[in-house]
Amino acid sequence: MPSGTPVSYEQDFAELTQLYRDTLLTKAGRIADLWQRVQTGTPNTREAVADLLLLTHTLAGSAETFGYGEVSRLAGSAERLLRTCVMAETAAMPAMTTQALTTLFSDLQRAAGGERETATAEPCRPASPAIDAGGRGRDSVIFLIDADDGMCRWLGERVEPFGYHLHSFASVESALAAPLRPDVVLLDLALHDSGRWADAAHCFGARASVVFMTPRADFQARLAAVRAGCAGYLVKPVDALDLVYVLDDLTGRQDADPYRILIVDDDEALPDAFALALREAGMEAAVLREPARILDTMAEVMPDLVLLDMYMPGCNGMELAQVLRQHRRFLGTPIVFLSREGDRDLQLAAMRPGVDDFLTKPIRSDHLAEAVLLRAERGRTLRAAMQTDSLTGLLNHAHFKERLATEIARSRRNGTSLAVALLDIDHFKRVNDTYGHMAGDRVIRTLSRLLSHRLRRSDIIGRYGGEEFAVALPDTNEHDAHRVIDTLRDAFAKLEFNTAGLTFSMTFSAGIAGDDGESGVSALLSYADSALYAAKRIGRNRVTRASSLDPGM
Ligand code: GH3
Ligand code: MG
Ligand code: MG
Repeated sequence: MPSGTPVSYEQDFAELTQLYRDTLLTKAGRIADLWQRVQTGTPNTREAVADLLLLTHTLAGSAETFGYGEVSRLAGSAERLLRTCVMAETAAMPAMTTQALTTLFSDLQRAAGGERETATAEPCRPASPAIDAGGRGRDSVIFLIDADDGMCRWLGERVEPFGYHLHSFASVESALAAPLRPDVVLLDLALHDSGRWADAAHCFGARASVVFMTPRADFQARLAAVRAGCAGYLVKPVDALDLVYVLDDLTGRQDADPYRILIVDDDEALPDAFALALREAGMEAAVLREPARILDTMAEVMPDLVLLDMYMPGCNGMELAQVLRQHRRFLGTPIVFLSREGDRDLQLAAMRPGVDDFLTKPIRSDHLAEAVLLRAERGRTLRAAMQTDSLTGLLNHAHFKERLATEIARSRRNGTSLAVALLDIDHFKRVNDTYGHMAGDRVIRTLSRLLSHRLRRSDIIGRYGGEEFAVALPDTNEHDAHRVIDTLRDAFAKLEFNTAGLTFSMTFSAGIAGDDGESGVSALLSYADSALYAAKRIGRNRVTRASSLDPGM
C-alpha cells in the first residue's frame, strides 16, 4: 500500500470480499440444486434453466472483481451454453450440452470453494479523487496587487458581501514576501511592461491562477495575456460583479457538488464494490437492488448518472431504461449499462431507448470511475443548460417547482421542517427606465450571486420571474427562514450599483411560508406570495411571514 494512503478502501474491500465469498458459496449451492432439478427433469425445468442463466450471468460478471477469475470464466462458459438452450426452445437438452454443463458446474463448485486468486484481485484503487468535493471556495487565498490603495479598498469592500476576502499589496515584491501562498492573484499590469507579463504570471508558482487587470481592451493585449499564461482578464476600471464571476470560476465554488451515481444491480456484493470505487474517486454512489423502486429512488437521490445492470429478475435493464425515458424530468440523466453482455448487436439494441453508453464487466474499478465521471460531467453540463436561466445560472421557474416538490416530499418523509421564500426587487421598473435595461440586468445578476453565495448549498434557489426569485430552505422553519432572508435583505440594500458615473442602491421585499405538512407546491408558493404582497403593501424593503398575516386579509 502506498504510504499515506488511507486504509479504509482496502479494509472495505476486504470486508466486501468476505461478504462475496459467503454469497458465492450460497450461489454455488443453488446452482447445484437447480442443475440437479434440470437433470432429473422435474416439471419446472424451463424455469430452472432460466434461473441458472441469471445466476451464471451474475457470477460471470462479478466473481473476477473479487478474485475468483476461474469462477467467472466457468460461469461465463455455462451462461453461453444455457443461452443456446433457451434460444433453441426445444424441451430436451442435447446430451453433449448436458455433459459439458455437468463438468462446468462441478469445476465451478470446486473453484468457488477454493482460495481467491489474490494476484488478480488486488483492488485497483482509482488514481486520485476526481473532484475536489469541497472546492477551494471560501477558503481560497486571493491577492490583489495594485499600487492604487483606494482601488484595493473599493474592490475589497465590493466582493466581501459575496464571501471573498482580498489581501491587498502595493507591489509584486511585497506580495511575494507575504507568508501566505495565494490561490488567485489579481494583478494590475500597469506594474509591468507587456514584455514581462509572462514573468509576472509565473512568479507565484504553478498553483496560483493569475488574473490580469489592465485598461487595455484590445485583441493584441488579450492575446498577449493568454500567451503569458493568465487565467483571467479584467478590463480596468474593474467591475465588482465581473470580478465575482471570475473568482467563482477560479475557486471552483460553483457546482463543486460531488457527482451522484445510482447503481441499479441485483447482485449482492458487486454493486457495493462499484460504489466503493466511485466513492474513492470523489463521487457519491447509491445502490438500488430492487428495480421496481427506481422512480422513488431517482427522485430521492437525483443522480447525475444511472449505472444499470442489464439482466435482473423481474425487470431487465432495457425495460428500466425505457421507464426512465418516459419521464421528462429524467431525460437529461445519462444512463450507462454495465453488463457482462459482450454481443455488440445486443449492446446496440439495448442502447436504443436513449441509453448513453455500454460498459462491459468485468471492469477495472479505475476505468469504471473514469468512464462514469466523464459522462456524469457531460450530463450535468447539459442538464444545467436545460434547467437553468441563462442570465443568472439559477434554476428556472419549472425546475425550481420540481425541486421544491421533491424537497417537500423529502422533508415530510423525514419529519423535518421546510420553508419557501419569494423575493421581488422593489421598484425595479424604475432602474430600467432610469439607467437602462443593462443596468437592470446587472441588478438581477447581483442579487442572484448574493443568494448563491450567502445561502447554504442545500438551499434551492430559482429565478421565479423577471425580477422575482424563489428559495426553498430545507430543515428550516418559518421563523428561521425569516431571519436568514432578512439578513440578505439588509446585505442587498447596502450594495452600491454604479452606472455611467451614477451610484444607486436597491432593495427587495420577501414573503415566507413554512410547510404546514399538507399543502401542495402551488398552495405553499401562494402563501409565500400573499406574504410578499403584504410586504409590498406595507412599504417594501421588508420580509413578511405568511403565518403573521391576518386570515381575513
Ligand atoms: P414592485 O416594487 O411593486 O415590485 O415594482 P416593480 O417595478 O419592481 O415591479 P413591476 O412588476 O411593475 O416591474 C418589473 C419590471 O421588471 C418589468 C420588466 O420590464 C422588468 N424586467 C423583467 N425581467 C427583466 C430582465 O430580465 N431584465 C431587466 N432589465 N428587466 C426585467
Ligand atoms: Mg415583479
Ligand atoms: Mg418588483
